[in-house]
Amino acid sequence: MIPERLQAVKDNIEAAKGRRSPDKNQDVLLIAVTKNHDIYAMREAIDAGITDIGENRIQEAKEKYETLDRDVTWHLIGHLQTNKAKQAVKIFDMIHSVDSLHLAEAINSAAANIGKVQKVLVQVNLAKEDSKSGVYAEDMEELLHKVDEMPNLQLMGLMCIAPNYEDVEDCRPLFAKMYEIFNKVKEMSFQTANIIYLSMGMTHDYEIAVEEGSNVVRVGTGIFGPRQY
Ligand SMILES: *Cc1c(COP(=O)(O)O)cnc(C)c1O
Repeated sequence: MIPERLQAVKDNIEAAKGRRSPDKNQDVLLIAVTKNHDIYAMREAIDAGITDIGENRIQEAKEKYETLDRDVTWHLIGHLQTNKAKQAVKIFDMIHSVDSLHLAEAINSAAANIGKVQKVLVQVNLAKEDSKSGVYAEDMEELLHKVDEMPNLQLMGLMCIAPNYEDVEDCRPLFAKMYEIFNKVKEMSFQTANIIYLSMGMTHDYEIAVEEGSNVVRVGTGIFGPRQY
């Protein structure tokens, strides 16, 4: 089942790429979100071609990281508490959820302790939802510069989570706005940042996200089926 579902997601991404304007012709990275799915499902996805894994809880990721006998790139996509930064930098190749100076500082010092330069994205809460983390757009630039100046962080781009609208088409203007912001950020002058990733789109909205310029999608249910909590 997993290989077939994965193929369908890949086909949908290709089709969505075909529908977008020529200025958005970059590759799209597919992250398989494996939270609440076991190591067997993970292996199956990886053996079917998945190279990038997304997890949102440190404890669960740590257990899987210690068990999984496959070489993959690990992404932290969920909110990170500062007291877990030390564990996060040991596991994750990229942390998508930096949303405050306080958290950035904690990750920077944890990374420094193990001699690592941690790749990060800054999460933007464009819709200003109370239920979601992320920096507000008007506070974003200041945070981007602060992150850029931290020696053990490398800023790689932006991440956002769209609101769960009843009609998924309602996400489109928000994704379009994020793409506009992403292009502005690319033009900003930084010291070490390398702004290449715009992480947006999950199972119900990744096709729209890709049409609007996303180049990293985080898909769980679409590959693994519904999660059992
Ligand atoms: C769980 C999760 C996803 C994947 O959600 P699906 O709807 O299962 O594709 C993507 N991004 C984040 C931040 C998540 O927490």
